[in-house]
Formats: sequence, structure tokens, C-alpha cells
Amino acid sequence: MVNKHRPLSPATFVPPDLVRPGVRLVTSGEAALLNSTTAAAAERMFAAAAAAGVIITLASGYRSFATQKVTYSGWVRAQGQAAADTASARPGYSEHQTGWAFDIGDGSGADAFQPNFRSRPAALWAAAQAHRFGFVVRYPWTFHEITGYFYEPWHLRYIGIEAATDMLSRGIATLEQYFGLEAAPGYR
Ligand SMILES: [Zn+2]
Repeated sequence: MVNKHRPLSPATFVPPDLVRPGVRLVTSGEAALLNSTTAAAAERMFAAAAAAGVIITLASGYRSFATQKVTYSGWVRAQGQAAADTASARPGYSEHQTGWAFDIGDGSGADAFQPNFRSRPAALWAAAQAHRFGFVVRYPWTFHEITGYFYEPWHLRYIGIEAATDMLSRGIATLEQYFGLEAAPGYR
């Protein structure tokens, strides 16, 4: 469980079982990797979406501490730390570093990483069906004061089918609330 109050430990953690899932990739290198459990679940979910006529692509998976450091530093240089913190996780605080999370696209590139992605078929399908494969939309609309992140309809996190289904059926929107953890709107 990683958020702005709960960094990875150690900060440079690397999942021991990173693999490249057999799904449509629109990325390469480390970003095409997930941990083995998440990769297997992603394969099942992307295949089910495809069978329903919905294309989902893996836009960004694993991100190492070193990569996150470069990305975050770039934002800080360009816009200062306050703005950087709204756009990019600090190194050691990204859910992408866990191997349990990834970003999806729809293959067209339309609305990629934009709020309007919510109305693309891939996002609509994921919002309705992802729990069946163990995933939740980790940063839902209007919950940034709890999660620390504005709405990201493209960012999915694996928590297992049982937990994801339970969370949905109980109407709980965030992992912080589901696990009874304090809200993490910003870094301490
Ligand atoms: Zn993401």
C-alpha cells in the first residue's frame, strides 16, 4: 500500500518477479513490465475486454526508482516543486514502482492521460469490469483529498478479485478508506 504518506521501503524496492505480460503494449523497456500476479490478471482482463470488442492497451507499467527520480526532477526543474508534486510522484512514492499498478490506453492515443479518457470505451469498460479481474481504479473522481491524486481513469491497481469486488459492492471508493488508513492528500 503506497501513497504520499506511505513510501516504498526500501525506497529503491524492485519487485522480484517482473515479467512482460502478453497484452497489447504501447510502451517498451521497464514500463512494459508488471509483477507476475498483476501481469497474469492483466492478460485475463485485456482478453475479456477484447472479446467484448473493447481494445485496452498497456500504456505504462513498472517504473523504477531511478526512472521516477529523472521524471520528478524534470518536473521540478520545469515548474518548481509545488507544481511537480501535483503532476508526478516523488521517487519512492509511485505505485508504479510496486509492480501492482499500470496505466491503460485504448490504442488510438485519444485522450491519453487526460480527464476525458474517462469516456473512452477502454475506461468505461475498465470502470465497470476491472473488479472481476482484481483491479480498482485507484484514483477516482473527487477523492484527491484522500488519495493525494486527481482523477486518473487510466490508472489501475491490482488488489485481488475478492477485495476489488468487496470494495465495489460496499461502495468504497479508495484503498485508504477500504484499509482504514488515514487520508494522504500530500507529502508530510
Ligand atoms: Zn499511473
